Amino acid sequence: MPTYEYRCQDCSGVSSFFVRSINSQLDPVCTHCQSTDMERRMSSFSMGKTVGSVHENFSAGSEGSPGYYNNPRNIGRGVESAFEKYGMDMPQTIRDNIDAARSGETPKGLDL
Ligand SMILES: [Zn+2]
Repeated sequence: MPTYEYRCQDCSGVSSFFVRSINSQLDPVCTHCQSTDMERRMSSFSMGKTVGSVHENFSAGSEGSPGYYNNPRNIGRGVESAFEKYGMDMPQTIRDNIDAARSGETPKGLDL
């Protein structure tokens, strides 16, 4: 069931409303101060992959579980083990790339 989030223009409180379908009419009333001066917020379900869902994957379990390869801490594991397997030293450029990716820095400009 879709959830719409509205921000109250009077008290800035955020209220969530379940709607039966995307096209349902909704007359949102602030759950904090009963104001009807509400402004629709973008809900995560309509934005696809959000920063929030990325962070949820941080707690993903061990290799093979869903989310493992979305976990920045696991980036480059396969590359590392391949170099280890053949007893080779990993070139510094690859090492740097993996470390940068693992730092998990969120690219600027995603904060909607
Ligand atoms: Zn309010």
